[in-house]
Amino acid sequence: MLKRGNMLTRTHFVFSVFLCLVLFLLNVVAIPNELLFLLFVIIGTVIVDIDSRKSFIGKIILFRPIQWVFSHRGMFHTILFGVLFSLIISFFDKWLGIAFAFGYLSHLIMDCFTPAGVRLFWPLWDGKIGFGVRSGGLIEEIMFVLLLLADLFLVYRMLLI
Ligand SMILES: [Zn+2]
Repeated sequence: MLKRGNMLTRTHFVFSVFLCLVLFLLNVVAIPNELLFLLFVIIGTVIVDIDSRKSFIGKIILFRPIQWVFSHRGMFHTILFGVLFSLIISFFDKWLGIAFAFGYLSHLIMDCFTPAGVRLFWPLWDGKIGFGVRSGGLIEEIMFVLLLLADLFLVYRMLLI
């Protein structure tokens, strides 16, 4: 089944985890609790598609009202919303806010590869950024497998250290 508009949740997942593991391995910032950080990166990346009925999280009936109000690839798929949510979380815990922003942003970057694109800079600029990787297509599957392998490799490396 081809869903043109959406990268699959699992692709977002492996991509965000990949970026997060690279961040851990670079060791340039001292993150107090890496496991909790990773968890919030994952929450950040999964939550963006709450505006889509077809997504992993959007299927949850509880979120239907959000989908009535916000169209898919609308405001939830903007840097502005990501920053707003992250700031709210930062209010409780700075690092978790950063982790959430990290996951959210990585989702938006990934969606930029799909033809449907995203209005990243709304409301400053209403244009869509999008490229030709069709969701659920062969290229996405290849990206998924490569990222999954990279994730496993990085986890293996981290366990060795
Ligand atoms: Zn999305």
